[in-house]
Amino acid sequence: MNILILHAHPEPKSFSSALKDVAVEHFSKNGDEVVLKDLYAMNFNPVGDQRDFQNISNNEYFNYMKEQMNAHINNSFSEDLKAEMDALVTADLIILNFPLWWTSMPAILKGWFDRVMAFGFAYHPGNKKYETGAFKDKKVMCCISTGGSNSAYSVGGEHGDINMLLEPIHHGLLYFCGMQVLPPYLAWRAHLSDEATLNGYLEGYKLHLNNLNDAKPLY
Ligand SMILES: Cc1cc2nc3c(=O)[nH]c(=O)nc-3n(C[C@H](O)[C@H](O)[C@H](O)COP(=O)(O)OP(=O)(O)OC[C@H]3O[C@@H](n4cnc5c(N)ncnc54)[C@H](O)[C@@H]3O)c2cc1C
Repeated sequence: MNILILHAHPEPKSFSSALKDVAVEHFSKNGDEVVLKDLYAMNFNPVGDQRDFQNISNNEYFNYMKEQMNAHINNSFSEDLKAEMDALVTADLIILNFPLWWTSMPAILKGWFDRVMAFGFAYHPGNKKYETGAFKDKKVMCCISTGGSNSAYSVGGEHGDINMLLEPIHHGLLYFCGMQVLPPYLAWRAHLSDEATLNGYLEGYKLHLNNLNDAKPLY
């Protein structure tokens, strides 16, 4: 299998980075082809704008979606975007590895999706979405460290149900583009937990990855 890991944490010694290392090791040992995109290390530009295109079809008024479609038809995305798109197309399984920031993903990863999941390439509201989506043969899974506890993110908990909070990512983005969204792995209160708990999360993640082939998609 071809595995694409999108990692979004600014500190290589962070716990989130340790989770990323677990995934790299797991799939490499398995004989899978692993492509790691460490977005901070790459200094990935997350800002979608005119620089995404080799040429602009309308210089009077910049319409990002229309320029995405134009670039899709004419193969005129910028070279950096083409490289990310190629990595996505090649992948059978995509792992999104990130700390929960404001109940979502860090901006550098959100920007990856803004730019790479381009109109025409990744989706079309008319005929290219959900079950007919561009990436319906791909699986995807989020591995997330949080600041809040499991109970605070449970149904009726202080912060609300984590599954509801992740809906915009799981359903609105990944499933919308056709992907089979596998259940996430969550490491709760990562920056507040003791070493034994953190080690337990790393072991738990290994088990989660071992069982991934049997995991049922959320939608
Ligand atoms: C902008 C922002 C917004 C946020 N919003 C939210 C939010 O909405 N909801 C929420 O719940 N939280 C939120 N947080 C908190 C955030 O989710 C947590 O701080 C983060 O998930 C903790 O993970 P980390 O990798 O950054 O931990 P770190 O602090 O980097 O690591 C935790 C500990 O793990 C240790 N460690 C590293 N590697 C290993 C290893 N291999 N084995 C054992 N220990 C190891 C580190 O030394 C450290 O002591 C937010 C944080 C920020 C900065």
